Amino acid sequence: MAKTYSKNGIKQEIVGKLRRHFSREVTEANAKQIYLACAMVIRDELVERMMEAQAKIKENEERQVHYLCMEFLIGRSLRNNAFNLGMQEALEGALADLGYEVADIFEVEDDPGLGNGGLGRLAACYMDSMATLGMAGNGYSIRYENGIFRQKIENGAQIEQPDTWLETGAAWQIPAMDDAREVRIGGAVKTRWEDGRLVVEHTDYTPVIAVPYDMPISGYNTENIARLRLWQAKSPIALDMEAFSRGDYLKAVEKVAMAESISKVLYPEDNHLAGQSLRLKQQYFLVSATIQDICAKHKARYGTLQNFAEKNVLHINDTHPALVIPELMRILMDEEGMSWEMAWNNVSQSVAYTNHTVMPEALECWPTDLVQAHMPRVMMIINEINERYCKELWNYYPGDFDRISKLAIVADGQVRMANLAVVGSFSVNGVSELHSGILREKVFSDLFRVYSTKFCNVTNGIALRRWLCEANPELTELIRSKIGNGFITHPSELQVLSNFGSDPKLLRQLKQIKDHNKQRLAAYIAEHNKIEVNLDSIFDVQVKRLHEYKRQMLNILHVMAMYHQIKKNPSAPLVPRTIIFGSKAAPGYAAAKKTIQLIHSIANMVNHDPDVGDKLKVVFIEDYRVSLAELIMPAAELSEQISLAGKEASGTGNMKFMMNGALTIGTMDGANIEICQAVGPENIFIFGMETPEAEALAASGAYCARDYYNANPVLKDVLDHIRRGFGDHVDYNDVVAGLIDGGPGRTDRFMICKDFESYCLAQERVAQMYQRPENWNYMSLINIANSGRFAADRAVAEYAQNIWRVHTNFAY
Ligand SMILES: *Cc1c(COP(=O)(O)O)cnc(C)c1O
Repeated sequence: MAKTYSKNGIKQEIVGKLRRHFSREVTEANAKQIYLACAMVIRDELVERMMEAQAKIKENEERQVHYLCMEFLIGRSLRNNAFNLGMQEALEGALADLGYEVADIFEVEDDPGLGNGGLGRLAACYMDSMATLGMAGNGYSIRYENGIFRQKIENGAQIEQPDTWLETGAAWQIPAMDDAREVRIGGAVKTRWEDGRLVVEHTDYTPVIAVPYDMPISGYNTENIARLRLWQAKSPIALDMEAFSRGDYLKAVEKVAMAESISKVLYPEDNHLAGQSLRLKQQYFLVSATIQDICAKHKARYGTLQNFAEKNVLHINDTHPALVIPELMRILMDEEGMSWEMAWNNVSQSVAYTNHTVMPEALECWPTDLVQAHMPRVMMIINEINERYCKELWNYYPGDFDRISKLAIVADGQVRMANLAVVGSFSVNGVSELHSGILREKVFSDLFRVYSTKFCNVTNGIALRRWLCEANPELTELIRSKIGNGFITHPSELQVLSNFGSDPKLLRQLKQIKDHNKQRLAAYIAEHNKIEVNLDSIFDVQVKRLHEYKRQMLNILHVMAMYHQIKKNPSAPLVPRTIIFGSKAAPGYAAAKKTIQLIHSIANMVNHDPDVGDKLKVVFIEDYRVSLAELIMPAAELSEQISLAGKEASGTGNMKFMMNGALTIGTMDGANIEICQAVGPENIFIFGMETPEAEALAASGAYCARDYYNANPVLKDVLDHIRRGFGDHVDYNDVVAGLIDGGPGRTDRFMICKDFESYCLAQERVAQMYQRPENWNYMSLINIANSGRFAADRAVAEYAQNIWRVHTNFAY
């Protein structure tokens, strides 16, 4: 039974931790020590429960889900765990008695930045749901010493600073030294036949020790705990003694540094292939340590690996961990002596693959030389998989060499990870209806003909407890008072809220809560940006990674259009807006960084123009991350989801906004389509081309952005102004040139100019609707009421039922 926590009990435990671990009395302790003491108190409870959960899995011989992902953007843990364990109130009281505001202590915790954006956040939301749904869930990733960089803005430009999350983050992790595994990188492989068996000898490799650190992941109102295992790379030797005794000190530490560099830093590219050799080593490091670990545990439990697929699912979140396929083959054959066929059966019935992007620059292809150099045995196995598979393809496409070489896993000196993932898994899914359709019909259309039964869809979802209950307690309380507590674990019950659409009091309360949340965000902006925003303005928000396909540029062009409108006629009535951006750009992505600079140049002009006053403000919030998203989402009124149709696989930011009552302005892309279906087209602002039109136009090669510039005086004025610059010595010629200078099919890859007019018209509709608060608030209510289907609980229950074939306690 769930333990209940008293204020005094917790207080005593905090005091005890402070004395024993920091030798401080409460009166002498600083906020960080208080935070760490709180974390230790809660961790004690989590660890005990995790041990019980792990013991139960073993006893029940349940099929386990192993979720492999290079990123887990988990966000802060203290409030989340306190909330899930039902001890938030007791903790709050205890801290108040000790003279602290609970909110200030939460703020001490750094965001563990072990991810870039949507992909990593999704993995974290799913861990929460796996725990809550009573599943035997295990996540695996890398314990990056430096997570995603911290973003500072200096003179309008992004500066990257290292992230030192471990100072406060390590408090939630338990090292499990006895589960350390050796990963072998590089070296040479020799094979020979002995008694009809292939013997593989791997020599001259560099051993790297993978040390696991376990994070217990709590679920809501359950004893069950999921486990996130983060591997850290350690050198097996402290020093190269031979070099050391020669007096070559640098050489002596070099080997150690090489090994340990593997878990030093997260690659900051989102939806883009990094391509560096160290990244490949990271992928193999994660995969090899994880598979060895799972196999060792399995063998200890069952005495054999023959029933591996029956008891384990290996879920690969995008292709980054796709080396699980050859690595598990290696262990089953080389170490267990299984035949190819039996090993392949186990592999291809335990691996499931989720694709996350259709952007060609994000589809992973590794040079075969690199794979060969770092993991020679794995390369041999990939070649063998490829040969057998190409033979099979011959039956489907006899004589069609072109098609077969296009579908091959190894070709043109590259290993195509997506093809490997499709071939080696029993399930392939996309993350929204639209995206899964594009996978079937475009990206994998030829493979779909061969493996049609593998393909399915699971639309993404978000952790309702974190994104609604914790981030927006006032709204949660209002919902509770109307429909009870059930929605917290049965998200579809939110639907009942739509019965209150004609309750004017409720609609007013919704608006009041939104206003409170706007005030909180405004206070943050006043402190950090030194900008006073107009609380009566529309909080119009675009927060997400900076990427050309996400089209922050389209938003900026509209801001410029509004600015010109004001300048032309300063006294004309205008619905005031605060445009809020938050976004990191990959450090090597010049166009994205330039966009950040442009936002700042424009903000500087707009925010200081007396003609503008409080009609328009542009705010860039530095260092967008999970904890800031928790502040921003509840305060947002308009959610900008304006990617070019066909490019955003799903989006999850769109779901967080919706659940907090923001209305969406968006294209028919990713999960926006399903949001539109859920709320009805009258409760969302849709604009722009749809996917078929966008794809046909791109394919025709005839798209000419300059035609739109010539035809639309508003767009022309905006682009001309940007070209002239803002008197701040930053040259934006390249930005405008990238949009309109150059012939048809050569510029404006994401067709911003084409969708500009339709976007401006949709923004007009937004402004008009905002002037009718009853209607706006009603639309907001309908969005909240229909957001239940975008809860991660629903998504994880679908994975469990349709893909993983494991039981959950989710009730639809
Ligand atoms: C949800 C989330 C994302 C994903 O946002 P999209 O709009 O879906 O791209 C990225 N970063 C953070 C910090 C998030 O919380």
